[in-house]
Amino acid sequence: MTEEAKLRILNSTGFSIGVLPIRYLGLPLSSKKWNKVDCYQLVEKITKRITSGYSRQLSYAGRLQIVNVVLFSIYNFWGTVFILPQSVLQEVDKKYREFLWGSSEGHKKIALVAWDKVCVPKKYGGLNIKSCKLWNVAAVGKLLWQLANKKDVLWVKWVHEIYMKDTDNIWENIPPQDCSWYWKKLNVLKTEMLQWYQRGQYVLTPNGTYSMTSSYQAMLGLLHKCPEADLLWSSIMQPRQRFILWLAYQGRLLTKDRLQNMHIQVENAACGLCEQESAETHQHLFTECHWGNTMRKDLANWMGVILLRGTIQQILAWIKSRCWKQLKKEAVAAMYGATIYYTWQARNWRQFRQKHVNTNFIIAQIKKELQVRLERVTESRKARNCQDLIHRICGR
Ligand SMILES: [Zn+2]
Repeated sequence: MTEEAKLRILNSTGFSIGVLPIRYLGLPLSSKKWNKVDCYQLVEKITKRITSGYSRQLSYAGRLQIVNVVLFSIYNFWGTVFILPQSVLQEVDKKYREFLWGSSEGHKKIALVAWDKVCVPKKYGGLNIKSCKLWNVAAVGKLLWQLANKKDVLWVKWVHEIYMKDTDNIWENIPPQDCSWYWKKLNVLKTEMLQWYQRGQYVLTPNGTYSMTSSYQAMLGLLHKCPEADLLWSSIMQPRQRFILWLAYQGRLLTKDRLQNMHIQVENAACGLCEQESAETHQHLFTECHWGNTMRKDLANWMGVILLRGTIQQILAWIKSRCWKQLKKEAVAAMYGATIYYTWQARNWRQFRQKHVNTNFIIAQIKKELQVRLERVTESRKARNCQDLIHRICGR
């Protein structure tokens, strides 16, 4: 087009010349390949959230909430619309990871559980964080599904008009040399995903549309169920207690024996809570140490149960196998989880602040917390056939 014609059009329409990437609904639109600079905004948005003052004070549970809700919604805004470059997906995953484990600028923290373990649903033992890399594939899968099924969507109609004139079948379509980076990339992914599609490994919702969440889960492959997940993540337990219990259940807290295995110097490797001179291990701290055991005995007695002695996994499995009502199982697990949480907290206070914590104070605290949490569910269906427990704990 000549400059003169261009000017004429601009004058008569009142438009001005824009430069790609232009913005649509706050997202930059580009026909060229996205690079790190284009995606800078995404990474910057996430970084801004993470470095804001308040988020550094949060517990693991608070940070998990932020990752699962706030950060994911920022990413989701981009990742479900665009095919993002691998470098950007890796960068975003890294940001999530560092934030969850509490790393900040110049202050690295150890990741306590591997990222691929974290990125699976809770019922399989993870934290239900969505890995950006896989989520983007699940999202692109949706675009392909729409194309393959010729859904009545504007962009699908447009693509059929522009790029798929010769064939109606997306799988047979060969992209022209001069097509956009985006269309080329979608076709590359199509080849990669062809088997996945032909084996029907994507998942549809009951009303026949593509389910991104279920397809994401299908991509995770064969996962082993965590049989005690309902007790670990019961709503009766406080969120911060659930997170510490989840870590202790897997033996992932940084006890002194683990620090030594990582070649981190430990001044005194013995447990600081009791006078037993035993090495501080998960086994000692949460199973053998009488500091916690006296507390558990007292609390179990208060709830009218006799608690088994054993490792965290054994005890949760034992609670699960009781022929109690579900609410009772969850309440006993919540009491147990609280003792694990406070044992770890008392250990840290002893270690870093040289403070002794009185078990009577903790027992009173746990009773109060359980009462409050149970009060909240007294009207629920679960509570209806568990009145004796409610009466025992809440006194009504
Ligand atoms: Zn001890």
